[in-house]
Amino acid sequence: MKYFSTRGHPGEQSFEDVVLAGLAPDGGLYIPKEIPTLPENWRSEWAGLSYQQLAINILSLFISPDELPPADLVRLVSKTYTVGPSVFRHPSITPLVQLDPQTHVLELFHGPTYAFKDLALQLVGNLFEYFLDRRNSAKSPGEPPEKLTVVGATSGDTGSAAIYGLRNKANISVFILFPQGRVSPIQEAQMTTVLDENVHNLSVSGTFDNCQDILKTLLSDKGFNEKHQLGAVNSINWARILVQIVYYFSAYFQLLRNPDVDVAHSEIQFVVPTGNFGDIFAGYYAKRMGLPMGKLGIATNSNDILARFWTSGTYQKVDPNAGHVVGGVYATISPAMDIAVSSNFERLLWYLAYDIAVQNDKTSKRAAACEQVRNWMIAVKNRGTVDLSAVLEGARRDFVADKANDEQTVTTIRKYYETRSYLADPHTAVGLCAAEVFAKSNSTTTVQVVLSTAHPAKFAEAVQRAHPSFDVETVFGDLLLWERRVHAIVGAEEELTGLVRNAIDKIASGHHP
Ligand SMILES: *Cc1c(COP(=O)(O)O)cnc(C)c1O
Repeated sequence: MKYFSTRGHPGEQSFEDVVLAGLAPDGGLYIPKEIPTLPENWRSEWAGLSYQQLAINILSLFISPDELPPADLVRLVSKTYTVGPSVFRHPSITPLVQLDPQTHVLELFHGPTYAFKDLALQLVGNLFEYFLDRRNSAKSPGEPPEKLTVVGATSGDTGSAAIYGLRNKANISVFILFPQGRVSPIQEAQMTTVLDENVHNLSVSGTFDNCQDILKTLLSDKGFNEKHQLGAVNSINWARILVQIVYYFSAYFQLLRNPDVDVAHSEIQFVVPTGNFGDIFAGYYAKRMGLPMGKLGIATNSNDILARFWTSGTYQKVDPNAGHVVGGVYATISPAMDIAVSSNFERLLWYLAYDIAVQNDKTSKRAAACEQVRNWMIAVKNRGTVDLSAVLEGARRDFVADKANDEQTVTTIRKYYETRSYLADPHTAVGLCAAEVFAKSNSTTTVQVVLSTAHPAKFAEAVQRAHPSFDVETVFGDLLLWERRVHAIVGAEEELTGLVRNAIDKIASGHHP
């Protein structure tokens, strides 16, 4: 299987190149040439499989055996999705919890950092290591080994998940930029208490947007890139989307095994708390591959660019009716979804553009879709808005969207705790809240699966607004008191990029500042 850029950069890439590069050279995102279909008897043959075996079967549909020999894939997947102290805590990896026969929660937070990003980044870390090892063992003696420097910016969850996925890996170093004082205390502790030599936290005196801008500048700086061999682990990395497809199948088979659910006579609706559109977009692939489901439910917080698009057909950074928004983003109690634009939405747009392309053959349709996406993304970048009404109908075929503000989020946490004894984190609560809205227009036989993206203890302050006696220590113990290592990057806004660049140069060459 080969991959190409949504913006039409010439040529096709291998899975390995796509994973290591992250973003395409033209700023586009990589997508596979074809969406594979499922083997004929998948339903019966996969029904009894473990999470690991399911992952192997699904990944093999996207990765050719000559790129990643099947035995190696089996080894990588088995090593990743295993139960143990710094790996996963639940034998089902992503257990499905029933709230009532028509409402289920797919818990994606049983990995080392207690958020769904672990499911992808644990495997991405092992893939990076595997590809580097393979390249290095093909070198002749005396040749210097190839190294990879992973740089990421985080408002919380990506940073810790990337650190836990990459800690202690040979020839890989990881630098995580986070806004000083603006990530939750638990998130900061999770990142900075990892003392492995290859892990470097940079706390930047600025906002998350500053961190992201610095990252973009560094990634597009050719000289810096070549010097350090930069790799990216942000949510546009194709491998992250790919491995997330697995848990949609896992949920389906868990429903099949549930005697309270008559899957054959129900429609399944997945509802996903959404920010950058990576988690839910994996569900779109599962649907296109043939996993039976109804429309996917997008749940956003007040940063509702997606919900607004599904209402109006316009994709616009700032809501013209919302008044003043600091930096284009509301700070909500579900901060992992506080985004101005949704980076993986570009991938969906490519498929929607392909569907409306008037050309007759695949190659010309593909080229037309790339050109269309490129123009749309330029419009968003330059004008902050683009009219996408041409693809609204297509978008509505597979998705519905709604949003929940902070007040609704807290009310939902309280309600589910008091009436179902289920304690949801604020991101999951956004999903539960939107699911109730979707349920009003669903058929009576619809079964909803709400994806739970974080453990409630990770966002304790918000959870305590609904459930004041909730105690985080039972989960995180004295993590806040552990020894930490972090490099403070302090300066005026316009100096920050230079300061980060110098810090990375120095640390990478062995001179810790
Ligand atoms: C990253 C994250 C999300 C958003 O996922 P996307 O793939 O960006 O849509 C939701 N909840 C939590 C807890 C997250 O960490």
